Amino acid sequence: MANAAIEFDADKQPHRRFNPLLREWILVSPHRTQRPWQGQVESITAKSEVEYDPTCYMCPGNTRSTGNVNPHYANVFVFDNDFPALLPGGQRGRVNKDDLLVAETETGICRVLCFSPRHHLTLSMMEIAEIRAVVDCWAAQYIELGSRRDINYVQIFENRGAMMGASNPHPHCQIWSTASVPNTVKTETESQAEYRSANGGCLLCDYVALENRERVRVVVENDDFLTVVPYWATWPFETLVLPRRHARDIAELSARERDALSDMLKRTTTRYDNLFRTSFPYSLGFHQRPTDGKEYPEWHFHAHFFPPLLRSATVRKFMVGYELLAMPQRDITAETSAERLRAVPDSHRAF
Ligand SMILES: [Zn+2]
Ligand SMILES: [Zn+2]
Ligand SMILES: [Zn+2]
Repeated sequence: MANAAIEFDADKQPHRRFNPLLREWILVSPHRTQRPWQGQVESITAKSEVEYDPTCYMCPGNTRSTGNVNPHYANVFVFDNDFPALLPGGQRGRVNKDDLLVAETETGICRVLCFSPRHHLTLSMMEIAEIRAVVDCWAAQYIELGSRRDINYVQIFENRGAMMGASNPHPHCQIWSTASVPNTVKTETESQAEYRSANGGCLLCDYVALENRERVRVVVENDDFLTVVPYWATWPFETLVLPRRHARDIAELSARERDALSDMLKRTTTRYDNLFRTSFPYSLGFHQRPTDGKEYPEWHFHAHFFPPLLRSATVRKFMVGYELLAMPQRDITAETSAERLRAVPDSHRAF
């Protein structure tokens, strides 16, 4: 049995622990003290409808809890997370007690990106040109963080709405970049690589072609992108946003494709808002090739929307019981979900 240890302080140093039953890693951030919670203000309608909130740590000109003052920014604004789950430096170590207690230190950089200085906006309410500035910033962050030797994966994600644990309604996303490649990305890398060696083509290029033929799961489309409820969707109204052309990461998108992605994000989130006539909560995230210097020709860049709502603005799907213990389960089919999303406008909020 293995017994290896390079000492580190598991009460202070960010690390990841291995689950030997599921063979997956869990990120542990013990250094993180009580962080500010502004999610509750979203239930107070007035607060999230104002253009500027003097108590918001992301609004222009405001002072954050660290004492840093936000600039009077005009479109996007990026800053290092004041309460990061990961730190770039610190101790390096690992433990392995009998192949049961397995852990290693993790390092990384966590940033916050404000989409707009206007506190009340959502992606669905922003102009396509304004979203384009966000897309360009995502690409620039991917390049900047990904070019560091100590960063091998850049995870960009947005939690929208208090139901998804967003700590502030101000339009923003987070960028967590890490030394290791996270579970889901590792699995998607292996799946795409295996498909490529077995079939010769790209898994998601082939999937785009198939969905384009079958049409039944398409929700929104333009010349360069396709949003579908994937055949294997877990969440009731889960969608996958796919470029039609094979691009390995967001930085490989052309100027035209970046405009097209902005259009897709606006129209997809507008359909979501109109479905239950509410500012639709979701987690949105991009998956793309790791930044460890390898080529990853199999990687096809894409975005996932994971929204929790099931039947109305307040009735959500819970992943409990059988889902936690065995496998996900759904009642409504992916085809019906796509049909329902297609039935509402994608051009404007109709409520
Ligand atoms: Zn704000
Ligand atoms: Zn492809
Ligand atoms: Zn993915």
